[in-house]
Amino acid sequence: MTVPFPAASRKDWHAAARALKPEALAFIDGGYRPARSGATFATVNPATGTILADVAACGEADADEAVAAARRAFAAGHWSSAAPAARKAVLLRLAELIEADADAFALLETLDMGKPIRDSLSIDLPAAVRCLRWFAEAIDKLYDEIAPTRGGTLAMVRRAPVGVVAAIVPWNFPLVTAMTKIAPALAAGNSVVLKPSELSPLSAVRLGRLASEAGLPDGVLNVLPGIGPEAGRALALHEQVAALAFTGSTAVGKLLMTYAGQSNMKKVSLECGGKSANIVLADCPDIDRAVEAAAMGAFQNQGQICNAGTRLVLERPIRDAFLERLAALAKTFVPGDPLLPETRFGAMASAAHAARVRGYIAKGEQEGAIRLTGEGPAAPGLSPDTCIRPTVFRGVDNSMTIAREEIFGPVLSVIDAKDMDEAIDIANASPYGLAAAIWTRDLAKALDAERRLDTGFVWINTLRVGDITVPFGGVKASGSGRDKSLHAFDNVTHRKSVWVDLSASS
Ligand code: NAD
Repeated sequence: MTVPFPAASRKDWHAAARALKPEALAFIDGGYRPARSGATFATVNPATGTILADVAACGEADADEAVAAARRAFAAGHWSSAAPAARKAVLLRLAELIEADADAFALLETLDMGKPIRDSLSIDLPAAVRCLRWFAEAIDKLYDEIAPTRGGTLAMVRRAPVGVVAAIVPWNFPLVTAMTKIAPALAAGNSVVLKPSELSPLSAVRLGRLASEAGLPDGVLNVLPGIGPEAGRALALHEQVAALAFTGSTAVGKLLMTYAGQSNMKKVSLECGGKSANIVLADCPDIDRAVEAAAMGAFQNQGQICNAGTRLVLERPIRDAFLERLAALAKTFVPGDPLLPETRFGAMASAAHAARVRGYIAKGEQEGAIRLTGEGPAAPGLSPDTCIRPTVFRGVDNSMTIAREEIFGPVLSVIDAKDMDEAIDIANASPYGLAAAIWTRDLAKALDAERRLDTGFVWINTLRVGDITVPFGGVKASGSGRDKSLHAFDNVTHRKSVWVDLSASS
């Protein structure tokens, strides 16, 4: 469903962009400061190629200071031991401040990673604020447990904060993903060091100031911009970090597991890559909806979505009619200047990433897939370096590179299946296990498929919908751990057992 673009937001976003002065420093122990080394990295607007800001490139020394500040704040107890209702009040104030500053945050998301301003305003900002409010509201409604032990004893099972959580996040939904990690962590009483992606650090850096204004004690939320193998690695290897909450690529997720093993065996929750199958059977109840969902599910956010339905598995009798409609729809996703309110398809997040995606498109052609869409001139207002049109390949075999590897761009691989069994085999023949969809009017068949699909999420007669109330995460190389819902507290808390011998007390 497309969320209506807020009428009040039809302003001159180019003028707003010129007026915006992004913060570009690290936020540690309640204040902004440069990296100790003085190093910076440029964050670039991918739609134009211009530098937005030179951002503090934090390294090990900065990670040490941020973690020490977080640890001090945790030990001081002003946050970690506060009544959950008191933490809730501060986090709700933070949600209000973000909402009041939504235009600036939306602009930063669009400038930093190229997504259309209408998406930043109607998808990213509401999702980030809703996530924060949801976890704030949840925390004073959770009860601990008393175990059924014998008389004369009291055994409590308490959900305790782990201490310092390092949240390491990617660039495709910068603020939303950061919030998915930090909202449950903060609500549960932890201190956090947030490491945004080097491609999109600006919204996270701005968040630091608002957190202080909302009343978060110094050191409880720290923001550490920097390059992954430097700032991120230093956090992941840190002996005082108790949990890593990660969203990003499978390759880096694997590294984080080794870093945890090389250091203090910190808790690691991973939300990694995907190659989700979207299976449409011949008895699909609504082909028009399925076509629209297949296109949105592959091309929204320029295809840079972990759970995108990038393998479309079509049962043969409907294949040709489905593809005809899909190709026509794909051509309506016209790339354009992300700052124009009417633009629905923006820039790829960086020129380097776009080059990687083009490499996959070339590989698809080399390996014999048939390209149905994706050609066209560069769009006005968009750098040709980061402009890629939605590309549909038919005739894809599940063994081809474009069916096996995560492309993370607007490339849809269409695979034929003779029946549901073959479709499920295709869906499961992937190193990834994030999500899958099946479209059929036969509920028994759909539920049978659900049991056989080896993924963390299954959609039936829909695609890529979700809600903060529903856990999200994968299996296999898509990771472990669950974001969203009360289950997300498991990533950032541990169960502490407390045994009291009542006979010993007078
Ligand atoms: P990435 O793995 O390259 O980077 C993610 C984060 O890890 C960044 O902050 C980066 O700086 C940091 N990092 C990089 N190397 C590191 C290292 N050696 N040590 C510690 N930190 C390091 O991913 P990306 O390119 O930013 O994002 C795209 C990937 O994210 C895709 O694979 C996508 O599927 C995945 N993703 C998954 C989900 C999900 O919920 N499953 C959601 C969004 C994106």
